[in-house]
Amino acid sequence: MAERRRRVGIMGGTFDPIHNGHLVAGSEVAQYFDLDEVYYVPTGNPYKKTGVTPAEHRYLMTVVATASNPRFKTSRVDIDRPGPTYTVDTLRDFHRLLPDADLYFITGADAMAQILEWKDAEEMFKIAHFVAVTRPGHDLDLTGLSPEQVSVLQIPALAISSTDCRARVRSGMQVWYLVPDGVVQYIAKNRLYRPDQQRSL
Ligand code: ATP
Repeated sequence: MAERRRRVGIMGGTFDPIHNGHLVAGSEVAQYFDLDEVYYVPTGNPYKKTGVTPAEHRYLMTVVATASNPRFKTSRVDIDRPGPTYTVDTLRDFHRLLPDADLYFITGADAMAQILEWKDAEEMFKIAHFVAVTRPGHDLDLTGLSPEQVSVLQIPALAISSTDCRARVRSGMQVWYLVPDGVVQYIAKNRLYRPDQQRSL
């Protein structure tokens, strides 16, 4: 009998900070597509100064957030590659590192809107199957895409965004239950997202 191929999910994001919407997305796709593992892949530092939190903080928050799920992992491929992050490069790296795995790239409905304009889009779809998860407040537009390229998965609606989490911390509001407890603690300990923030990394 033919051996079952390893199935690996990849969820790219800025994760500034990682929140429960990201974790529910990975968990739902892992269950529905019977994935062996899901890699969370924080983007590298942006090329120009944009106010994005340094990659090492975003990476460590992702490690903390994914630690309790045996199927979740965190990858440094985008952080360790110099220059801006393009998804096609992420996929090339995973394909090179895991040549025998079927790759599933997980993305929210909002990100799908311009996907055909992403760098080397045709190659991306050759390397991985895309799974678009629903996201409250964002319509899913799949114009120009085929079912071989993209599947849609309806997931429990969590109207959480990193932008909102950052704004809450900045204005002194809590983010409990929007992000994992360890991430709440990491943000507090490192004084992230505060007007007077002192970053040690
Ligand atoms: P920001 O508010 O800073 O733009 P974000 O909350 O959209 O951040 P990202 O790190 O940009 O988070 O998102 C990474 C991926 O997770 C994207 O594909 C995005 O569409 C998806 N995503 C983010 N939040 C949710 C959510 N609440 N439900 C479903 N998918 C989500």
